[in-house]
Amino acid sequence: MADYKACKSCRYITDKSECPVCGSKDLTAKWNRLLIVIDPERSEIAKKLNIALKGEYALEIQE
Ligand SMILES: [Zn+2]
Repeated sequence: MADYKACKSCRYITDKSECPVCGSKDLTAKWNRLLIVIDPERSEIAKKLNIALKGEYALEIQE
């Protein structure tokens, strides 16, 4: 996952220079622990992190 970055606003993982979910360009390569959300409606952790869309997210962002 070397080229993948996490959005600092919504934690979404992307290989683009801009977050496709919230449009933020504030991305970081310093993230840990991939969270895959398949069904945000039923995922307690997705609710806790305010994740509404399925996809891949960073559980930890270092800066
Ligand atoms: Zn985002």
